[in-house]
Amino acid sequence: MARGMIRLSKSCLGEEEKKAVCNVLDREFLGMGDSVLEFERLLSNYFNRPVVCVSTGTAALQLAIQALGIKKGDEILVPTMTYVASFQAISANGAKPVPCDINPESLLIDLSDAEKKVSSNTKAIMPVNYAGDPSDLTEVYNFAKKFNLRVIQDSAHAFGSKFNDKLVGSFGDISCFSFDGIKNITSGEGGCVVTDDIEVINNIKDSRLLGVVNDTVKRYSGNRSWIFDVKSQGWRYHMSNIMAAIGIEQFKKMEFFSKKRKHLAKYYDKLLISREEVNFFNRNYDNINPHIYVVRIPGLRDRDKLIKIMNEYKIQIGIHYYPNHLLSYYNNIKTTLRNSEILFQELVTLPLHPDLLVEDVKEVVTKLVRAIKLIRH
Ligand SMILES: *Cc1c(COP(=O)(O)O)cnc(C)c1O
Repeated sequence: MARGMIRLSKSCLGEEEKKAVCNVLDREFLGMGDSVLEFERLLSNYFNRPVVCVSTGTAALQLAIQALGIKKGDEILVPTMTYVASFQAISANGAKPVPCDINPESLLIDLSDAEKKVSSNTKAIMPVNYAGDPSDLTEVYNFAKKFNLRVIQDSAHAFGSKFNDKLVGSFGDISCFSFDGIKNITSGEGGCVVTDDIEVINNIKDSRLLGVVNDTVKRYSGNRSWIFDVKSQGWRYHMSNIMAAIGIEQFKKMEFFSKKRKHLAKYYDKLLISREEVNFFNRNYDNINPHIYVVRIPGLRDRDKLIKIMNEYKIQIGIHYYPNHLLSYYNNIKTTLRNSEILFQELVTLPLHPDLLVEDVKEVVTKLVRAIKLIRH
């Protein structure tokens, strides 16, 4: 990375994380043990609900789906505007991700489109709290009730976001979070499932460790089982003590990170409100802990060139996301999702992370406006 580059996103780590990892290394117990148990307890207190930690956010989604008994032939409604992880977690279970269009105002799932796609095979809906925004959840849960569906929230962007004064994850059916390197907090790689459904929690405690029955309890008490039973397909998707040690330190910094993200997003809004060439999305950053800051540039034709010019200005910008229904693996039914296909071409993601400065935000906006003028001439 060139020096002076304003990065799109990054991990924000300090001495605390380094020390915590070294402590784990010194104890010479790297796998799943006391640090993971402690991280799960912290998270469980935070959400006031049972939590199970796993190796990635994708694993959290995949195992949550498996725990519901969703399998080949079953369908899950999911917005096309998401990271491919949401789709892969569904297809990993043999189930079919049914791509739905998005609401152009919020970039969240368009439930009127989803309604057209409900079939007798539909078992669940996977709303994505895009950019950390959970504001459609009342409608999503009403929809799920109407069609008798389970809800698996892809809350990978929404750690620390609130909805009606309640933390995302502390209410609803099942919420899955990611702690990958650039998410709101990180454990290096990692994720967790939060739910009141104890059957789901217990199922994942086994499935994350190759399906070995009750291995979690035995490992936490230092008595790994040598003679055991396996009753279902499992995976090596557990979290390690190294990861959890990072996660615990990051969790302590959560309020600080969240304050910064919210402050920077509000500042972007403030600078952009008077700019005709750039539209932002109306989100309430008193409640939302923004994972990404996405803008729409109406009439944008040559986004590649925009990205290139911004890079020359030493500013990284990104795209969230290429619609999943256009990917070869998922476009076998040749769906057209108009809003997503039109909007997608005009979206860019601007830098946002806790180490970003207010001056950086100013510079990003100035340079973005300059770059747009350049490509329009
Ligand atoms: C990051 C992310 C995931 C998956 O999380 P990983 O920890 O990277 O596996 C899932 N969905 C969305 C929307 C994400 O951004």
